[in-house]
Amino acid sequence: MSGTTLDDYTDRYAARIGGMAQSEIRALFAVASRPEIVSLAGGNPYTAALPLPELADMFARLIRDQGTEALLYCPGQGSTRLREQICEVMADSGIDSTSGASPDDVVVTVGAQQGLDLLARVFCDPGDIVLAEGPTYVGALGVFSAAQATVVHVEMDADGLIPEALEAAIVASPRPPKLLYTVPTYQNPTGVTLSAPRRAEVLDICARHGVLVIEDDPYGMLGFEGDPPRPLRADTGDGVFYLGTFSKIFAAGLRVGWVLAPPAVRDKLVMASEAQILCPSALTQAAVTEYLATMPWRQQVKAFQVLYRERRDALLESLADYMPQDMTWTRPGGGLFVWADLPPGIHSKKMLPAALTQRVAYVPGTGFYANGDGGGQMRLNFSFPSADRIREGVRRLAGVVTTTAEL
Ligand code: PMP
Repeated sequence: MSGTTLDDYTDRYAARIGGMAQSEIRALFAVASRPEIVSLAGGNPYTAALPLPELADMFARLIRDQGTEALLYCPGQGSTRLREQICEVMADSGIDSTSGASPDDVVVTVGAQQGLDLLARVFCDPGDIVLAEGPTYVGALGVFSAAQATVVHVEMDADGLIPEALEAAIVASPRPPKLLYTVPTYQNPTGVTLSAPRRAEVLDICARHGVLVIEDDPYGMLGFEGDPPRPLRADTGDGVFYLGTFSKIFAAGLRVGWVLAPPAVRDKLVMASEAQILCPSALTQAAVTEYLATMPWRQQVKAFQVLYRERRDALLESLADYMPQDMTWTRPGGGLFVWADLPPGIHSKKMLPAALTQRVAYVPGTGFYANGDGGGQMRLNFSFPSADRIREGVRRLAGVVTTTAEL
C-alpha cells in the first residue's frame, strides 16, 4: 500500500477528517521562513528577548535537583504547585478568589490549544453551532471543524463583537448555538479589543439565550497602551470557561496552558485530557513553576510590552507612509497583530505569490473565516521581525499592493 501518490485510504477515513484542511498559515510558514523573505506572517513571540543563559542554568538545575520527579508522569489535572501559581498569574488581570477562581478548578493543558480542543470534545456534538468573531483564530476553526461543529461568524468592529449582531445571529440560528468562542482582548487576528460596555452586553445576551462562553485570553497581559478591560471571566463567576497560556508571556515552545472551569466541567476536562495525553509534561510544568518562582517574570512581560509597542509603531507608521490611500487597518493596543483591509478589488490570497516573489509574506484573511470570507483582508504580525525589517517588509508589500491595484 505504499509508494503511490494516490491516497489508498480515501474511503476509510472517519467523517470528522473531511472538514480538516491544512492550515493556510502552516503551509505558508515553510516558504515564509526563508531568510530573504520578510515574514509578517508569523505569530511567534520574540524568544530572543528571553534571558537564555539564565534559562539554561534553570533547566540544568531543574534536571539535577528535581529530575526524578520532573521526568515522571504527573496527575492528569497538572501539578498542584503550578495550578496555585496560575491563580496568582490570573489574579494580576482581575480573575481572583473573589471571582471564584481556585487552583482546584484549573486544568493544566498542552497550550491553550489543547484546552480548546478539550472544551470542544466535552461540549460539541456533530452539527452543533459555535459562534465566533468574524474573523477568528485559525486554530479554533481547526478544533471546531475536527469536532464537526459549525462555526457561525459574528460581525465585529473597532470595539470588538457587535452585540446586536450577536443577538441577531443567535435568533437567526437554525438550532440554538451552544457556544460563543471569543478572544476579547487584543484578538488574533485583528488586534481588536472588546470594549468594557460591550463585555457586559455580550455576557448578558449569552446568559439570556443559554449560550456558553469560551474566553480565550493569550494576549491580555501584552497590552502596551494602558490596561485592557477586565477579562469576561473576572466578573462572571463560573459563567465563562477561561483559557490561558504561558506561550506569549513566557515561551510557546514549552506548551503549557490552562483552562479554568467550574468543578463539574473541570472533571470532564480532566477525563478527556487523560484519554488524550495521560498528563501534561511534568518537565515543562516544573520549568514554568521554577521560572515563575525564581525569575522576574513580570519584568519580562514588561520587556515584551515595550518591544512589541515599538514594533507595532514601526508597522503602523510604515503602513501610513507606504500604503495607498484606500487601504485601512486596525490600531491594536496590545498583542501581536494588525488586520488590514486591502483596496477594493484585491484578493489577499491571489496576491500572495506576487508578495512572495517580492520577498514579503503575510497571512491572507481567508484563513480566519470558516466560510471563505476575508479575501479583502490580511493579517500582519509585528512581534517577531525587528522594526527595520518591518519597515522594509511594508515597503515591499506596498509595491505589490500598488501594482496589483493597477492590474
Ligand atoms: N488562542 C489564540 C487566540 C492564539 O492566538 C493562540 C496561539 N497563536 C492559541 C490560542 C494557542 O496558544 P498555545 O500556544 O497556548 O496553544
